[in-house]
Amino acid sequence: MKKKIAIVGAGPCGISVLINLLKNLSNSDISIFDINQNFCKGNSFRVDSDSLLLNTTVDTTSVFYEDRLHFFKWLNSKKDIPKKYKLKSAFVPRNLASKYLFETLNEYLLKSSEKNNNVRIFDFFLFKYDAKHTFIDTSMNEYLFKYVILCTGHTSSSINMKCKLGELSNNDGYIENSFLNINGKIHKNDNVLIIGSNLSAIDTMLLLNESKHQGKICILSKSGSLPSVRSDMGGDYKPKYLGLEGFKSETISVNHLKRLFFKELLLLTTKEDVKSYFLISKDPKIQLETDILNCIYSKNKWQVLVFSMLEILTNYWFKFSTADRILIKNKYKKIIDRFISSMPLENALLLKDYLNNGRLEITKSSHENVYYSNSKKGFLIKNKNVVYNKIIDSSPINIENKDFSSLLNSMLEIGVVKTNINRLNSLDIDNKFFKCRNDFDANSNIDTPIVYAIGPTLRNNLIVSNFFLESSRQANIITNHISTS
Ligand SMILES: Cc1cc2nc3c(=O)[nH]c(=O)nc-3n(C[C@H](O)[C@H](O)[C@H](O)COP(=O)(O)OP(=O)(O)OC[C@H]3O[C@@H](n4cnc5c(N)ncnc54)[C@H](O)[C@@H]3O)c2cc1C
Repeated sequence: MKKKIAIVGAGPCGISVLINLLKNLSNSDISIFDINQNFCKGNSFRVDSDSLLLNTTVDTTSVFYEDRLHFFKWLNSKKDIPKKYKLKSAFVPRNLASKYLFETLNEYLLKSSEKNNNVRIFDFFLFKYDAKHTFIDTSMNEYLFKYVILCTGHTSSSINMKCKLGELSNNDGYIENSFLNINGKIHKNDNVLIIGSNLSAIDTMLLLNESKHQGKICILSKSGSLPSVRSDMGGDYKPKYLGLEGFKSETISVNHLKRLFFKELLLLTTKEDVKSYFLISKDPKIQLETDILNCIYSKNKWQVLVFSMLEILTNYWFKFSTADRILIKNKYKKIIDRFISSMPLENALLLKDYLNNGRLEITKSSHENVYYSNSKKGFLIKNKNVVYNKIIDSSPINIENKDFSSLLNSMLEIGVVKTNINRLNSLDIDNKFFKCRNDFDANSNIDTPIVYAIGPTLRNNLIVSNFFLESSRQANIITNHISTS
C-alpha cells in the first residue's frame, strides 16, 4: 500500500521536505497544501524584489543537507544569473532561492513516477482536524493521512493575525502585513513609521528605497537594536577556543563557556571594543556603524564566534543545570538573537546612507508611545513633531494576542499534537517529533496520523541560526524516519 503523506504549507520548509521525500522515498502518495501565491515562496520569500537578499551565503543554503553546494551548483548552471551571485560567499536575492526550490522540485516531480510516487498539489489551506482523524480543507473536502508534516511557518502570520497595535490600526494609513509588498500602498512623499526593527522592517526599508520613495522614515525599535550585519568575509575563521571539538566532556559549566567566549573575543579585538560592542542599549545609529566597521575590519569573525557559541549551547543544552539555562537565556539570548537576525552588509550600508542624510531615524521606543492625531491626520510619536501618514506593523507577533491557526487549534484540542507555540510564533519542536498519542481512540480502525513539525523555530529553546539549512536537516531526518517506518 502507498504511504499517504500530507505536507501542510508550501513555503521553503514544505518544499524542502517534498523534494527530500521524492528523492529518497518510493511508493508514496503525497499531498501538499497551500495557497498558490505562496507556493515555493512561503511568507518571507514572497516579494519578488532583487533588493531583498537571503541572509545566508550561497554555500550554506541548500535543499539537501548532505549536499551543501547544491544551490551553488544550481546557480552556476544558469546562464541568466549575474556572475556576482555565482560565488560561494554571495548573498543572493531571496527570489532566486524560491526559483531554485521551484526548479529543483520540478526536476524531482518529473522523475516521481519512476519511484511510484504520486504528488497532488492543492491550492487550499487545511483548516481542521476532527475526531475521526479527518483533515478538512477550506473547500470542505476531507482527507485521511498516515503521516502529516506541518510546515506552517510563523503559524498565524498568514491566517487571521490579531492586530497588536490596537486602536492605531483603526486609522487610515495603517498597513498590517509584515511580509509586505508596498506596491500602490505607499506614495512617494508619504512619511512612514515602521513599528519594529527586525528583518521585515529592514525589508520594508529596502522596498521603499527601490520604489524611489522620498518621504521621511522612522523605525521604532523597542530594544533599540537593529539586526546585526553579515558580510561575505571571514567565513573561514576557525575559533581557537570555541570549536565544538573542544567539548568532549559530559558536563560543562556556563562559567567555563563564558571564559572561553571572552578569550576568543579578545583574540579578535581589544577589551574596550568587547565592552562597547555588547552594550546593547547604545544608540542604534552608533551600533550600526560599529557593526559595519567590525564587519569590514574583523571580517565578520564576531558572527562566526556567536554561531560557534550557539552551536555549543544547542548541543549541550540538556547538560546545563536549570539555573545555568536561565542564566544563559537572560544573559546571552539578546546577543544571540541580534546576531542571528542579521542583514547583509550591502543592506546595512544603505541604511547608513539614509541615516546620514537625515531621511531615516531610528527611535528607541514602543508603539504605546504612538498616537493618531485627527487634526493632523497622521501618527505621531509622543514628544516629537513629525507627522507620519503611514504606519506599518512590522513588529513580532505578540504571543498573548495571537490567534492559533484553526488547523493547529483543532489538532491540539483533539490531542494529536502536543506542542507549544514559541515566542516567534512558530511550532516549538523541541528536537523531537510529535507523535500521536498511542492510546488515542484505541477502538478506531483508522490509525491516528504521525505528525511532524518543522520550520523557523526555536530548537531546544535556542534560535536556529540558518533556517534554510536547518529545514533541510530536519527534512532529511523526517524522510529517513518515514522511509524506515
Ligand atoms: C523578513 C524576513 C526575512 C527572512 N529572511 C531570511 C533569510 O534571508 N534566510 C533565511 O534562511 N530565513 C529567512 N527568514 C526566516 C524565514 O522565516 C524562513 O527562512 C522561511 O521562510 C521559513 O520557511 P517556512 O516554509 O517554514 O515558513 P513560511 O515561509 O512562513 O511558510 C509557511 C507556509 O505555510 C502555509 N500555511 C500555514 N498554515 C497553513 C494551513 N493550515 N494549510 C496550508 N498551508 C498553510 C502558509 O501559507 C505559508 O506559505 C526571514 C524571515 C523574515 C520574516
